[in-house]
Amino acid sequence: MTLLSKTGPGFAPAKINLTLHVTGQRGDGFHLLDSIVAFADVGDRLSARPAPVPSLRVHGPMAAGVPEDGRNLVLKAAAAMGASAAFTLEKHLPAAAGIGGGSSDAAAALRLLSAMTGQSPPDHPEVLGADIPVCLMARAARMRGIGEVLSPLALPPLPAVLVNPRVEVPTGAVFAGLARKDNAPMPDPLPTFDDPRQAIAFLATQRNDLEPPARQAQPVIDEVLTALRALPGAALARMSGSGATCFALFERPDDATEAARLLAAAHTGWWIAPTCLS
Ligand code: ATP
Repeated sequence: MTLLSKTGPGFAPAKINLTLHVTGQRGDGFHLLDSIVAFADVGDRLSARPAPVPSLRVHGPMAAGVPEDGRNLVLKAAAAMGASAAFTLEKHLPAAAGIGGGSSDAAAALRLLSAMTGQSPPDHPEVLGADIPVCLMARAARMRGIGEVLSPLALPPLPAVLVNPRVEVPTGAVFAGLARKDNAPMPDPLPTFDDPRQAIAFLATQRNDLEPPARQAQPVIDEVLTALRALPGAALARMSGSGATCFALFERPDDATEAARLLAAAHTGWWIAPTCLS
């Protein structure tokens, strides 16, 4: 289990898609989305110091396999801003996991570089990745368009458990497995959410359209969802992003903590994080 405090521009929290409707595809290939996005209090930590040549060192419990070269979204973000720094990334989030680890790291890089140089982040961060604009904001929002249309959302803090069965899911393959791409959007406007019970009741009526193709590609996702639904107090279980990370929502923080303890005892190979989404 990983718990980090949520502070500073270099904190790169896990992004959770509480809903994810795929509503179309543009001629240039970008998918149109309608998603309620929230952030966890678990995440990566990025630091930066001025340097004439960009560089990146990755360490931490989830560093294995994460590129340190120009393929890393941190360095792509720096290049898009035309700025340079020596970055150190402490990786706590599993990669290719549907929780936007790379996007949140890239957003943290843009925040740090802005603070360091006084430059604004690029005008169209969504072309680097659909999740980067919402990760720059790092607060609950409704995300539409190709990720660039954001409406902040008042969401009560939602106790949750995140679970990743440690299989990587390539996002492109999951989108390619969609039965259709013109799925219905969420209602507009969204209802207001005064307490967790009300928010969870609404979320339960919505979907993650990527869940069926991801479950087909990685059947262990079914196992994760079944385990989450069996936890005492679990009010809703769903996959985030293109998977394989799934979340369960609870009305009480103590239930989420206890659920994470029970799951960790039964599934030693899974990444399990109790958290609060907001
Ligand atoms: P999304 O939900 O936005 O699709 P994801 O959480 O599924 O993202 P990432 O963690 O961003 O996926 O990783 C996807 C791939 O991007 C990885 O396989 C890795 O090689 C590469 N990558 C580039 N930058 C990073 C980064 N900073 N952290 C992790 N992976 C990165």
